Amino acid sequence: MNKQLQNFITANYNSSLPPVRIIESGQGAYLTIDGKNVLNLCSSHYLGLAVDLRIKKAAQNAIETYGMGTGYRTLAGTHVLHLKLEEKIATFKGVEAAIIFSGGYMANCAAIQTIFGKEDIVISDELNHASIIDAIRVAGIKNKYIYRHRDMKHLEEILSTLPPEVKDGAKILIVTDGVFSMDGDLAPLPEIVTLAQKYGAITMVDDAHGEGVMGKGGRGTVDHFGMQGQVDIEVGTLSKAFSVMGGFISGKKELIDLYRQKARQFMFSNALSVPDTAALIEVFDILIQSDELVNKLWENANLLKSQVKKAGFDVGNSQSPITPLMLGDEDTAGQFAAKLFEEGVFATAIRFPMVPKGKARIRLIPSASHSKEDIEFAVEKIMKVGKSV
Ligand SMILES: *Cc1c(COP(=O)(O)O)cnc(C)c1O
Repeated sequence: MNKQLQNFITANYNSSLPPVRIIESGQGAYLTIDGKNVLNLCSSHYLGLAVDLRIKKAAQNAIETYGMGTGYRTLAGTHVLHLKLEEKIATFKGVEAAIIFSGGYMANCAAIQTIFGKEDIVISDELNHASIIDAIRVAGIKNKYIYRHRDMKHLEEILSTLPPEVKDGAKILIVTDGVFSMDGDLAPLPEIVTLAQKYGAITMVDDAHGEGVMGKGGRGTVDHFGMQGQVDIEVGTLSKAFSVMGGFISGKKELIDLYRQKARQFMFSNALSVPDTAALIEVFDILIQSDELVNKLWENANLLKSQVKKAGFDVGNSQSPITPLMLGDEDTAGQFAAKLFEEGVFATAIRFPMVPKGKARIRLIPSASHSKEDIEFAVEKIMKVGKSV
């Protein structure tokens, strides 16, 4: 191997990290790990759709008819199923149009890079997802500003003191997660939009953890705040509540048409496969028809949250089903997760660098696939472990 490459690997590879858990089952209410059946409280399949029979059937039928792969959307890869899925997403979201990508990460990169460049200005919440941070880098934007998490005073301070030589002719983007994935708290969208209007800024929300979860029937965080049509660019993932894979941007038709023509992530990367696309069409059909799964998710989330709070745990500022048990100490969080696993509950410890040092936690994510008994079982085990660490 090249010597420099060898040195780089030696300097950067951390051989003391614990190995990842290997899942031997589907992503249902329970997971099989090392042959053991454990309650799944850590996946982002909020609606339990990853193992839903209707989704499996839809994928199977599509494979029978069309096979697997598609292609480049702009060459010979735009399948009728892709267009059908984009229409379903737009219908579900109650917006004019949507465009799909092979991941939420890609959708964020496309959303920003296609429209914003070197001389533009981006103002970003300090806890925004890594893919937004990378998207800003990919776009090569020079003028980056970070506001303190959900701090609207700080956001306005930045907006009102942008140097005129920077501001002259530049587009300004305010970008935020809808639901913050480590804390479960929400972006203050009404205030952000008001500030954006005051200072002529464009708004973008990455709602990866809000789509299928927040708002009426899971329409998302923008819907939760009753602000449909007021956020310029909405990004979502198809891999969390929607349980397949892929990402999308939704909004006004002319905006989506521009992405269709100019987004490099759309032009130079393959489209979603046949079974992924067909499964997702079924997902949106289910969600357009009924709020049942979203209601069940919230029933479980409210039960879990109220019970762990009653048991004395600090769940921070969560307004979503994401329920962090704030433990603080890194080792305590690690031991807590290990003991929970022994008790048959799988929930991961979230530690530095995913969250700041001293803010370690266990992140619990209930889903619609859990029964009331599952949640009660989890609470009982959490209380038991809480007494021993
Ligand atoms: C998970 C996530 C993404 C990435 O989505 P993928 O579809 O997994 O690429 C982007 N943004 C946020 C906020 C996320 O939580």
